[in-house]
Amino acid sequence: MANKNASLHIFFFPFLAHGHMIPCVDMAMVFAAKGVRTTIITTPLNAQTISKAIQKTKIHQTKEINIQTINFPSTTETGLPEGCEHVNTLPSLASLSAFHKATRLLEEPFEQLLLHHHPNCVVADMFFPWATDSAAKFGIPRLVFHGMSFFSLCAYEVMRLYEPYKNTSFDSELFVLPNFPGEIKMTRLQVGSFFRKDDVEAKRFWEEIHESEVRSYGVVVNSFHELEKDYADHYVKKFGRRAWAIGPLSLCNKDKEKKRYRGGKEDEHECLKWLDTKATGSVVYVCFGSMTKFPDSQFREIALGLEASGKEFMWVVGKREKNEEEWVPEGFEDRTKEKGVIIRGWAPQALILEHEAIGAFVTHCGWNSTLEGVVAGVPMITWPVGAEQFYNEKLVIEVLKIGVPVGARKWSNFVADEDCCIKWDAVEKAVKRVLAEEEAEGMRKRAKLLAHTAKRAVEEGGSSYSNLDSLVQELIPLSL
Ligand code: UDP
Repeated sequence: MANKNASLHIFFFPFLAHGHMIPCVDMAMVFAAKGVRTTIITTPLNAQTISKAIQKTKIHQTKEINIQTINFPSTTETGLPEGCEHVNTLPSLASLSAFHKATRLLEEPFEQLLLHHHPNCVVADMFFPWATDSAAKFGIPRLVFHGMSFFSLCAYEVMRLYEPYKNTSFDSELFVLPNFPGEIKMTRLQVGSFFRKDDVEAKRFWEEIHESEVRSYGVVVNSFHELEKDYADHYVKKFGRRAWAIGPLSLCNKDKEKKRYRGGKEDEHECLKWLDTKATGSVVYVCFGSMTKFPDSQFREIALGLEASGKEFMWVVGKREKNEEEWVPEGFEDRTKEKGVIIRGWAPQALILEHEAIGAFVTHCGWNSTLEGVVAGVPMITWPVGAEQFYNEKLVIEVLKIGVPVGARKWSNFVADEDCCIKWDAVEKAVKRVLAEEEAEGMRKRAKLLAHTAKRAVEEGGSSYSNLDSLVQELIPLSL
């Protein structure tokens, strides 16, 4: 079979943000492991990061992963500072819309690559809606990669079709998601501004994403069927999409070296050695992904809450723009130096989560983090901020029942509002609840079982393994 697969050539074209690039690189590895010829399309600065992440694959796998670069548009064309080729290098998230506009200019160089290499299929990120037409010009099918759960994909569709939040009279009034499996309730504060506000530009962009998806060959999803069966089926049966669940993609990084290089960062943290000294299931790991920004006041409350819980913690605060000391409560680091570790930068999250000392994960519910939490088999404290994170929270809390919510109430565009600050006692309570011996026992058992099922899904004969096989088999005739 490997020989036949080798005739198949797929382009992978991730959006230029960690939460999209990391799973897309994993996906290229998963296809390469099947013997498929894979090429990742990206810009020169991102190519450096990606090549670090994939270097290690060459030793083990049948096929190398190639990288083809296209130049990011110039600063005169985009108005963005020099060297901004990645969402996480933007001066502020206020430039996000300018960044999206800049990526539109990648269309022409992308088509040049299609013309020269003529791959048999393109897997392009949802934020490149134009890619369906680009590929069609050359008779190439396009698969969409959203980087979202089936649950959120279905919820977005329900919001778009029925606008159920419009039937509420105040912001915190609950409404039920119509034509949606389970009695899932939300408030209009949580649905996301692209559905609620009269933002013509954003609305048009989302319509374009939707249309390009409907006209695409189908959708590849970083999930596994057993995790969200009802929603996976709903997406296919009710919304008529062709979809392949081929995750959890992070599981393709089997050895430590590969996990360390995910995201192309190479810092080996002392944190892993610190974890080695801790008891099984004793440490709460806190990380809000790569995009979320909290005000200092929120950081202070988190610090006080962690301290009040009396539990051991590992907290990724990332790189703060302002003087860090402004948010640190007086004496905090001295008082907690035995109990906690603060990571001021990029954490090797996949390695941390799988460490047996980790007993719970405080997460912003980005889909990659959520799924990595599932794979690690640890209960979560859900703290959604923006994007589709409030939907993922519902899945974790109400469907999977493997977490407790911290009590976040209001969606914001990655930058949490000062007035929505979660107080220290809510953090303390959630940490104590999720690590409690008896109360959390059921949660822990369910989380462990799901982790086991996740691993089974990507092994030979598992659901994701079989889905990937059937997708590859379906695409092979295009290459003959
Ligand atoms: N991540 C990491 N170290 C960090 C922060 C994030 O490895 O310090 C990884 C995390 O494991 C996940 C991705 O970055 O794979 C973040 O994606 P997610 O969808 O969770 O959130 P986003 O950053 O898109 O909000």
